Formats: sequence, structure tokens, C-alpha cells
Amino acid sequence: MSEKYSYQKEWKEHRKRQKTFWLVILGYIPIALLSLSLGYFYENNKIIGVASSSLWVIFLVIFVICGIRLQFWECPRCEHSFHRTWWWNNIFSRKCLHCKLPKYAGSSFGERGKVEL
Ligand SMILES: [Zn+2]
Repeated sequence: MSEKYSYQKEWKEHRKRQKTFWLVILGYIPIALLSLSLGYFYENNKIIGVASSSLWVIFLVIFVICGIRLQFWECPRCEHSFHRTWWWNNIFSRKCLHCKLPKYAGSSFGERGKVEL
């Protein structure tokens, strides 16, 4: 690995966490459709109601875990949370909220990979 891509491994982990987070958000749609259709077809069935509620609880737990994993991802340069400070967090930030390292700097991902360190 060249010096130019010194943070490649760290950004790869970030992309993995980000993709997982968005896949979980997209998972809301089939879970909502399943839950609505179960509620429609089995309106008075308590077992189906409990199963549907459990599905939502599992979804929320996975959503929270993935969100926390993304928020607490450490910046490869300063090793603080990239998307989070003690008073503010932003999972859409394009640079580190501590050292201002641009997203994907030091990696081959996207146009930001061309940013010099
Ligand atoms: Zn940083």
C-alpha cells in the first residue's frame, strides 16, 4: 500500500459501517409492509401481534446498534469520533468534527481519495 492511501483500511471499515446503517434503514420498508399486512390479515390474532411487535423491537435494536457504531467510528488521524463531539453529532459530516480531516482523505474511495493529507 502506498503512502498516498495510508488510511485505506480505516475508511474501508467506515464504508462498511455506513453501508450497514443504510441497509438497516432500507429494511424499514419491508418490515413495515410485513407488519401492516400481518395486522390487516390477522387483526385479532395475539400471537401474530406479538410477533409483529417483536419484529419492530429487533429492528429498533439493530438500528440503534448500527447508528452507534457509525457515530463512534474513530477518525484515522486524530482518533476521536469522526461524526461526534461531546455536544454535537452529524453522521452526514464530510470532515472530522475534531481535526477537519476530509472524508475519505488518504484512501482511494471517491473523489475525496485525491485529497492530500
Ligand atoms: Zn479527526
